[in-house]
Amino acid sequence: MSANILDGKALAAEIRTQVARAVKQRVDKALSVPGLAVLIVGGDAASQVYVRNKRRACAEVGFNSFAHNLDGNISQIELLSLIGALNSNPDVHGILVQLPLPAHIDEEAVIERIDPAKDVDGFHPYNVGRLVLRLPRLRSCTPRGIMTLLARTGVNLEGMDAVIVGQSNIVGRPVAMELLAARCTITICHTRTRDLPAKVRAADLVIASAGRPELVRGDWIKEGAIVIDVGINRRDDGSLVGDVEFDAARERASWITPVPGGVGPMTVATLLQNTLQAAEMADALIS
Ligand code: NAD
Repeated sequence: MSANILDGKALAAEIRTQVARAVKQRVDKALSVPGLAVLIVGGDAASQVYVRNKRRACAEVGFNSFAHNLDGNISQIELLSLIGALNSNPDVHGILVQLPLPAHIDEEAVIERIDPAKDVDGFHPYNVGRLVLRLPRLRSCTPRGIMTLLARTGVNLEGMDAVIVGQSNIVGRPVAMELLAARCTITICHTRTRDLPAKVRAADLVIASAGRPELVRGDWIKEGAIVIDVGINRRDDGSLVGDVEFDAARERASWITPVPGGVGPMTVATLLQNTLQAAEMADALIS
């Protein structure tokens, strides 16, 4: 058996087209153009690339993009007060602060300063809590993008045994809550998990998000399982590799995401969906 490829690049392009169409419709109805503020503080080369991609994606769908390239030495108070100003700016519907932040800035305080109604990354405890309570509002981009990819398979997830490798706040935990809400039975694995291969072997659905190149071996994959590879790891030669041993896993899985071209493009497309959603939520408040 050779798995079907879940093509995140193609699906992300479809989503961008849908969002661009929705922006045109808003303009035709004299509604506001969605606006996204992307803040970067100093920033390593990888963060600069992510931010550039996000701003470009905004421009392509017709959003207003508010760029804030901040000095790496900015004080926490200055950063919090900028976020406060963006919270009050009606042209800004979404606020994204690129992580990680420099060590002198308290990441939690920054996330909590963002108005939850503009928290398009879905990292604010309010939005995380709503997801836990099955009352999702703005959902974290990578997990929501994964759910969109899974919907594309047409496979009913109810009752599936889902194993998530990784328990981070931005991927493992929220994707576990998404899958629980979709009525999967979830197992969250981490560095202290005993016998990871056995956990994965029992899974109908595997989410690999450990950030360890090819940690999940192909022969761990149950015949017919769905495999979502979130990992992005750079090899010495500069090429990218996921957390799953792709070629071997593909022989056993029913569906699998490639790296690159799987989850990655969905994250940026979902950010656009979230920003559009935030603009629609703002309309509902003023109508
Ligand atoms: P993280 O380092 O914050 O978390 C990794 C998790 O994996 C931890 O909970 C850790 O306990 C677990 N883990 C690590 N090694 C393990 C092992 N050997 N066995 C079991 N568990 C193990 O990472 P993160 O921010 O969640 O990102 C994970 C990966 O996903 C990275 O490669 C990152 O680049 C990628 N990522 C991709 C996207 C995307 O859009 N495609 C988005 C976010 C993160």
